[in-house]
Amino acid sequence: MRRLWEYAAVSDARPKLTVVVPFLNEEQNLPLLFDRLCKVMESQPESLEVLFVDDGSTDGSPAWVASKAKTDPRARLLRLSRNFGHQIAITAGLDHADGDAAVIIDADLQDPPEVIPELLAKWREGYEVVYAVRRSREGETWLKKFLAASFYRIFRALAKVDVPMDAGDFRLVDRKVIDALKQVRELHRFMRGLTCWVGYKQGAVHYDRAARTMGETKYPVWKSFRLAVDAITAFSASPLRWTAGLGGIACLVGLLWFLDILWARLVHPGGIERGWSSLMAVIIFMGGVQLVSVGMLGQYVSRIFEESKRRPLYFIKGDTASGRDS
Ligand code: UDP
Ligand code: MG
Repeated sequence: MRRLWEYAAVSDARPKLTVVVPFLNEEQNLPLLFDRLCKVMESQPESLEVLFVDDGSTDGSPAWVASKAKTDPRARLLRLSRNFGHQIAITAGLDHADGDAAVIIDADLQDPPEVIPELLAKWREGYEVVYAVRRSREGETWLKKFLAASFYRIFRALAKVDVPMDAGDFRLVDRKVIDALKQVRELHRFMRGLTCWVGYKQGAVHYDRAARTMGETKYPVWKSFRLAVDAITAFSASPLRWTAGLGGIACLVGLLWFLDILWARLVHPGGIERGWSSLMAVIIFMGGVQLVSVGMLGQYVSRIFEESKRRPLYFIKGDTASGRDS
C-alpha cells in the first residue's frame, strides 16, 4: 500500500477514496448523505469521489445526482440500465471506482458516514479490507434481527469463509481487493462473503447501526431470504451432502423397520397389524424428504444454468465521468 508521506510532496497526488453508494429510489436520503460524506472527508487527507450507482430508480434521485455532478466534481453518477439488485449495483460501483480504496455504504444513512475516518485509519495501518461491524441495529424488526443473527451463524458454519458476524456491506476495500473482485464474475454474488474470500489483511471497526432516515426498506424479509440462499449455495455444497446423509438415515430406519416386522412375524406367526396411519406417516415423510432433496438439487442446478449463460452482470446507461449522462 502507498503511504501518506509518499503523497506529501505533491498535493494533487493525494490518495483518493471512492465512496460507492448503490441506491434505489432514495431521493430524500441522497442530499443528506452527500453533505455528511463531504463534511466527514474535509478533515481527512484523502480526496473524495462519491460514486452514486443508480439501480433503476424511478424517482427524482438520479436527476438530483446528475445536477450535483455538474457543479461538484466529487459527485459522480453511474446509471444501470434497469434494477439489477443491490449486490450487482455494488459490483458495478467497484468496477468503476478509481480510488486507491473504496467504501461501500447504503444510501439510507443506516451506515453512518462518520465511521469512515475510522475505516480509513485502519486502512492506513495496512489493512486491506476493513469491516464496519454493527454493535446494535436500531429500527429493525425482531424477526429481521433474529433471521440475520441465525444467517451469519449458519453461513459461517457451512461456508468455511470467516465472515465477521453482523457486518453488512458497509466496509472499506483497498485497490488490490477491488482488482481481485473484478476477476470474480459470478452472477449470484454475495459481496460480504466475496470480500472475505479474496483474502488479504482483514480488520474491523465497531459502530451502532441507526434506523433508516427516510423511505421504506427495499429488503423485505423474502428478499433477505433469497440473498441468504444465494450466499449459502454460492459458498457451500454442504446442503447437497446433507440430503445424501438424510437419504442414508431414511434407508437405515426402513431397514430396521423391516427387521422389526420380520421379527414380529417369526414370534407371532399369525401376523400383526401395522396400521394404515403409520404407513401414511412413512409415505408422507419419505415424500417430503425426497422433495426437499430434489428442491435442494434444483437450487444448485438452476445456478449452474444461470452461470453457464455467461451474461454480463449489468449494463450501464450513463456515467457522468465519461460524459455519458442519460
Ligand atoms: N438497493 C439497491 N437496489 C435494490 C435494493 C436496494 O441499490 O434492488 C439499495 C438501497 O437503496 C440502499 C441499499 O441498497 O441504499 C440497502 O437497501 P435497504 O436499506 O432497503 O436494505 P436494509 O437496510 O433494509 O437491509
Ligand atoms: Mg437500509
